[in-house]
Amino acid sequence: MKTMSHREQEVATRIDAATKGSHWRDWRWQLEHSIRDIDTFEKLLGITFEPEERSRLQETLAKFPLSVTPYYLSLIDPENFREDPVYMQAFPFPSELTVMPHEMADPLSEDQDSPVETITHRYPDRVLFHVSNVCSMYCRHCTRKRKVGDVDYVPDKETLQKGIDYIRETPVVRDVLLSGGDPLMLSDDFLDWLLTELHAIPHVEVIRIGSRMPVVLPYRITDELVAMLKKHQPLWFNTHFNHPREITASSREALAKLADAGLPLGNQAVLLAGVNDCPRIIKALCQKLVQNRVRPYYLYQCDLSEGLAHFRTPVGKGIEIMESMIGHTSGFAVPTYVVDAPGGGGKIPLMPNYIISWSTHKVILRNYEGVITTYKEPDSYETVFCDRNCEKCTLQLHLEGADERKAIGIESLLADYDEAIALTPENNERLGRRDDSE
Ligand SMILES: *Cc1c(COP(=O)(O)O)cnc(C)c1O
Repeated sequence: MKTMSHREQEVATRIDAATKGSHWRDWRWQLEHSIRDIDTFEKLLGITFEPEERSRLQETLAKFPLSVTPYYLSLIDPENFREDPVYMQAFPFPSELTVMPHEMADPLSEDQDSPVETITHRYPDRVLFHVSNVCSMYCRHCTRKRKVGDVDYVPDKETLQKGIDYIRETPVVRDVLLSGGDPLMLSDDFLDWLLTELHAIPHVEVIRIGSRMPVVLPYRITDELVAMLKKHQPLWFNTHFNHPREITASSREALAKLADAGLPLGNQAVLLAGVNDCPRIIKALCQKLVQNRVRPYYLYQCDLSEGLAHFRTPVGKGIEIMESMIGHTSGFAVPTYVVDAPGGGGKIPLMPNYIISWSTHKVILRNYEGVITTYKEPDSYETVFCDRNCEKCTLQLHLEGADERKAIGIESLLADYDEAIALTPENNERLGRRDDSE
């Protein structure tokens, strides 16, 4: 039998002195014993809150429920719990009840860009498929907190069938992201059915699963689950580690199982004040991730969801962190730092500026050390004029069914075959006057 850490042993014994942790690695046992109230939390951690704080915490719970797995709780250091990164992600803060002026229930307008109940279709070629509304742990920084309050509603087969139908009837969708909630809250059989249905759609080229299980309940990554997932390649897997402390022996084991099954692994971290807003923490996290075959994918700026003000950092903190990563560590250990546009514009990548100046024949660049260098542009470059008529082009695409979608956004301004010379906001007053005078 695998050995348990001292803290795991202690938490397991406090939950059930009789079994003393013999079920610790059973994910169903972990879910059944999830901590959902303050009393149990205090008891398991061996701490007590003052009555006044307690009542404010109780109020917070009434709006945003608490749920932590015994495993994740056992990562908290009771000696210094208030500053503990696991505690801060798992346990409510009274300030969650304070809604600041710029905060929104649905900051990314996911519900508006939703053609059918379970789908968010924002980008041209991929969709978010919300296949579950439950999680094994409720992250305090959840961007979809508006949904967490719904008492453990799991979409039934019929509702999900509508999502599948939408994808089948929408041929531009080549990439489907299973999200939620946590898709691994579904049973293996149900997921197997869902993945089979999706892969049977000819235009679905890849499927991704977004799950925090390797972080908060690594025992969910069982041999049976992995054997089932392995049948559904190409299948990508993104998880959500925010702090190096979360990378434990158990989570490493879960990641190794997934990587051994051939699933490419990625990580989406969120920049959180008091948790990981430090270049050294993010670098240590990313280096530990790549040691475990996980590619840091995104580092998110914290969204403007209601009650998250205490978690938000200035964007400058993110840029500072990127400055300390790019060039300083392995390129594949560096995530893309993104702000998810409020109102639903999607992810916007940000990084420090590396272009210092420009002329027609030279670009002046700086590197991570502050060295300023010159890149000489080519003396002659024959522009390939594109009219989207690939038959007559010297470059060879020769792809069966290459998509002929029109360029959108800035891409269209750059394109030779598009007449657009400017993008203008719909409510532009000056153009409004022009129309009037006509
Ligand atoms: C993040 C996101 C995606 C996927 O974006 P990638 O940059 O391809 O990872 C798709 N749809 C929505 C609504 C998203 O928020």
